[in-house]
Amino acid sequence: MIIIGAGLGGLALAHGLRKQGIDVAVYERDAHPGARPQGYRIQLDEPGLTGLRECLPAALFELCLSTAGAPPARVSVRNRRLDVLADKAAAHSSAAADVSGPRAFNRPTLRQIMLLGLDGQVHYGARLVGYGHDADGRVTARFADGRTATADLLIGADGVNSAVRGLLLPGARVEDAGLRLVYGRIPLDGSTRAQLPSWVFESIFTVVTGGPGQPHLGLGPVEFGRRPEEAGRALTPPVDLSPVGDYVACLVGAPADHPAMPPFAELRTLAPAALRDLALRWTGEGWHEDVHGLLAHWDTDSLFPLRISTAAPVPHWQPGPVTLIGDAIHAMSPVLAMGANTAVRDAGELTRALAEAAGRGEPFVRAVGRYENRMREYASRIVADSRQTGQQRVGQR
Ligand SMILES: Cc1cc2nc3c(=O)[nH]c(=O)nc-3n(C[C@H](O)[C@H](O)[C@H](O)COP(=O)(O)OP(=O)(O)OC[C@H]3O[C@@H](n4cnc5c(N)ncnc54)[C@H](O)[C@@H]3O)c2cc1C
Repeated sequence: MIIIGAGLGGLALAHGLRKQGIDVAVYERDAHPGARPQGYRIQLDEPGLTGLRECLPAALFELCLSTAGAPPARVSVRNRRLDVLADKAAAHSSAAADVSGPRAFNRPTLRQIMLLGLDGQVHYGARLVGYGHDADGRVTARFADGRTATADLLIGADGVNSAVRGLLLPGARVEDAGLRLVYGRIPLDGSTRAQLPSWVFESIFTVVTGGPGQPHLGLGPVEFGRRPEEAGRALTPPVDLSPVGDYVACLVGAPADHPAMPPFAELRTLAPAALRDLALRWTGEGWHEDVHGLLAHWDTDSLFPLRISTAAPVPHWQPGPVTLIGDAIHAMSPVLAMGANTAVRDAGELTRALAEAAGRGEPFVRAVGRYENRMREYASRIVADSRQTGQQRVGQR
């Protein structure tokens, strides 16, 4: 099997298939694993934790958990004066994975752990530019540097701008969700933590909303159960995980049509200090002093801009030797924190379907059809829920 993309979905799938004794190779366009920043916090609950447990070797799953934070399993919504508008148990409990509640991972750490055990199976600097169907029913992938690779099944796990989706389903559209974010971190040392308001640490994620059509703030603490570098050193044999300290992931977002929002082409060129100034303008007058206090601790160098996209519904298609998982087929806005959860679920579902097919001696394409039918159903529901919640809370289109 060939997987295109070594993101969370593609790596989970690679482990899942290996566990089932299925040969797999991953092709990633980045030149090496550290070629670009991987973002900050990622929250996994259900179905992500079950998918991760299903796919990863047990020791790696335990390593993921031991390095993750376990903040209170609540999601809070406050107005800009910080009155509580909603305070709910995080929607999806993780009983199925035998893990008590959601976990806040440091995304680069999670990815580093998920790359363990795949030595020689992840090929870097390999940007897929095309594929073709061979006479024997196999698929040959073509990469920008002239490499090719042939397999029974090609899986596009290549994210929101998926090249595989563009070739397989040229009519599938990804829409601008009408939200722009400035995303960064508030590093936590002992003294900073004591200066931050306690409500930041009472929920796994807090949204402070300025109201319809107005900017919002999102906050998610990442306080490690065990420092990744220590957890890695304690293994036999030890593994090298990059050192990282506790932090609060902190984003300021606003609708694309907000009067103080530059076009995205301009936003993406702004230096971190200019992004900070802009976000501070969005959250100026009328916002509680705690918000200003929090943003004073924002690490300017950590800031980068994001445009949020969401997948439009895709009409049914016939299964074949090319399929898609994760953002490549169901990109969604991050308001429900379900994109990676669903990508990892896809990995578990596709692994199970392929293992069953192998066990029964069925052609792979039947397994692909079963996986796609299930995925279309659960993913379309969660994309629609994310859109609706985004419209209610943060002015998504
Ligand atoms: C601010 C923010 C916060 C979020 N927080 C959460 C959260 O808390 N919980 C959650 O569940 N989800 C969250 N998400 C969503 C989550 O980040 C995505 O859903 C998830 O990363 C999708 O994983 P993926 O493997 O499908 O794609 P990706 O992680 O995007 O990986 C795709 C990979 O494919 C590679 N690639 C792309 N094109 C090619 C090509 N042509 N050839 C070869 N390789 C290619 C890329 O380099 C990349 O490595 C958040 C999103 C945002 C923007």
